[in-house]
Formats: sequence, C-alpha cells, structure tokens
Amino acid sequence: LNRRLDGLGTTIFAEMSALALRTGAINLGQGFPDTDGPESVREAAVRALRDGHGNQYPPGMGVPELRTAVTDHQKRFYGLDFDPDTEVLVTAGATEAIAAAMLALLEPGDEVIAFEPFYDSYAACVAMAGAVRVPLTLRAPDFRPDLDRLRSLLTPRTRLLLLNSPHNPTGTVLTRDELTAIAELAVERDLLVVTDEVYEHLAFDGEHVPLVSLPGMRERTVSISSAGKTFSFTGWKVGWVTGSPELVAAVRTTKQFLTYVASGPFQYAVAEALALPDTYYEDIREDLRTKRDLLAAGLADAGFTVYAPQGTYFITTDVAPFGEKDALAFCRALPERAGVVAVPNSVFYDHPDAGRTQVRFAFCKKQEVLAEAADRLRKAFA
Ligand code: PMP
Ligand code: GLN
Repeated sequence: LNRRLDGLGTTIFAEMSALALRTGAINLGQGFPDTDGPESVREAAVRALRDGHGNQYPPGMGVPELRTAVTDHQKRFYGLDFDPDTEVLVTAGATEAIAAAMLALLEPGDEVIAFEPFYDSYAACVAMAGAVRVPLTLRAPDFRPDLDRLRSLLTPRTRLLLLNSPHNPTGTVLTRDELTAIAELAVERDLLVVTDEVYEHLAFDGEHVPLVSLPGMRERTVSISSAGKTFSFTGWKVGWVTGSPELVAAVRTTKQFLTYVASGPFQYAVAEALALPDTYYEDIREDLRTKRDLLAAGLADAGFTVYAPQGTYFITTDVAPFGEKDALAFCRALPERAGVVAVPNSVFYDHPDAGRTQVRFAFCKKQEVLAEAADRLRKAFA
C-alpha cells in the first residue's frame, strides 16, 4: 500500500458490520436502513432489467432520464436551474463522486479544508489526490463551525473546501448565515467548494440550503448527492454531481477512468424515485424524526450523553459518563457487553482528542429494533 494511504487500512464501517455479523448484535453502526425503499421504485428497476434498459453500458454522463430527473429535482426543491446535458453527471454513488472530484480538482500539495469529524472517504480521497487535508474541528456540544477559525486556516495553498451538510456524524445542519459566510470566504479567496449533500432530505431542524444557491457560488461549486439515503437504496450506488459545465467536465474526466459508468438499470429506477411526490420526501423525514427521538431518549435513559442531531440518521453520544476513555475500544467491546454495534467517532478525527469518547448510533432502523437496542443498552449501562 502506498504511503499516501497510511492508516487507512479497513474502513470502520466494514469492521463494525463484520463484528455485528459475527456476534449477532443489533447493528446500529454502519448507516443503512433495515427497510428497502419504495416498492414502485423497486418495480421500476425490475422493469428496466426485464425490458433491457441499462443492461449494457449507459451513456458516460448517465441516462438522459436520470439527468433530467436530477435537474427537475433541483428546480422543484431549490429553484435551481441546471442543464441536464452539460451540468449533471451520474456516478457510482456519492462515494465515487467525491473521489472523482478530488482527483479532478486537486494538485499535489493543495490544501483542502473539511470539517472534522469527517466521513472516512474524505481523508482517503484527499490523500489519493496527493493533497493535504486541513481539519476544522466541530466541537461538542453544538458542533458548529468556528468561522473565524476557518479564516485562520486559509493559506496560499488552500484550494478547496469540502463541506458536508447535514453532517455525518454530528448531525449539524449548516444555517443560511453560516453558509453565507463560507460562500463569501470562497469568493474572496477564489476557492472551489465540493458539497456532500447526501442527507439533503433528512434535515429535521432547520432547512437544507444548497451552497450553490448563494451569490458567487454557481461557478465554483460541485454539488454531490445520491439515492442511497433519500430513497433507502444504499446498495444501488447511484449518485450524481451537479455544477457548471467546466467543473462537471473535469469530474467526468476522472470518473471515466474509475468506473466509466455504473448501475445501468438502477439509473432508470432512480429517475422515477426522484419524481416521487413531495409527500414521499416529507414522510421519510418525519419517520426518521420519530426514530431519532425514540433512540435519543433511550440512549439518554441508559446514561449516554446525547447530542441530538439536526439532520442525517445518526446520533453522536459521549461515553465519558461511564468512565470510558476510548470510543474504539468501547465499540469493539459493545456487542459482548450489550448486544449492540455502534461506530467510534474518534476515527473520523485528525485530532482524536476532540472526539476520543464519542460514539455514533444509526437510527435508520425499525422502531422495534431501536426499542430493543435501547433496552439492551439500558440493562447494560443504566
Ligand atoms: N457522504 C456521506 C456523508 C455519507 O454518509 C455517505 C455514506 N452513505 C456517502 C457520502 C456515500 O454515499 P453513497 O453510498 O451514495 O456512495
Ligand atoms: N455512510 C455510511 C455511514 O456513515 C456507511 C457507508 C460505508 O460503509 N462506506 O455509516
């Protein structure tokens, strides 16, 4: 393994899901729902397969039906206009979009500012591009970005801001004021911004504002989303990038040599998913809000310090009240102790001391599963 990837051996999600399989514990670690997305969308995938839509290489930019569905979605929810022919690129999930964007936009030695704790692929992709990550730490209990600190991190080598809102794992939803300040800085310093918006429809408190909608951002923002979270199809790996023709062409160049294309028949199905009525989007958000409240109450009862998330389907907690010193060791022992799997946030920090005892629980699970997990944790800890 080359030295760029030092320390990035196995993702924590794979380790913790394997632990769940081995022990039979309830898996609140890796973020995937235990209920599949809408039946009509699954049927659309079956139809596409059966009718021969997408069984051979789809177009490099993605099938036209999906690119148009993405632009319709951006218009319907945010009033944004994109050209489906030149400003949308379909990818193998948001994961490939992030990798392709980093490889396309960064020179070796460029600095990338991202909020820590970060989603694990950010560190890996910045490293693979030979660039340098510069973390802006979100600190408990609020996990708001310190914008003065952000300004102080800028150097002549700063090339790109990698933003994620709603934020995994803390659940922070950036406010319009925070985004405006970030946008002003990006314009002033002529920075590119890549926004990971995979949880765009899972904002319970506050509203998701796409950074690209703010003044000066249209020409410098690459926006990324995917079908995994919004439609509960994490296995389909259908994601997309929107941005100016120049930026999308740049990302397409690297994407071509990563997968070229992916998920042919599923692209047609996701086109139908994006066109679901507003009530679909409201229902999934409200369902997850209820689940958030259920698990948050259970964790608090068991004695965890709970940082209620404004968005995503994760709750960050602190296990220091139990006298614990290390979230990774805590999570490795948790299945034996309580029959539950969680993820240590400490591995998402470059400065692990900032999150040494933070543990994340996913609540995209059936209510009875969350209730059972809360019960087990209460018995083990309260
Ligand atoms: N970004 C964030 C913040 C995520 O939590 C995830 C995990 N699902 C991804 C990107 C990856 O998305 P996808 O499954 O579409 O590749
Ligand atoms: N995004 C999911 C999470 O944060 C996991 C994705 C993955 O396993 N790479 O749990």
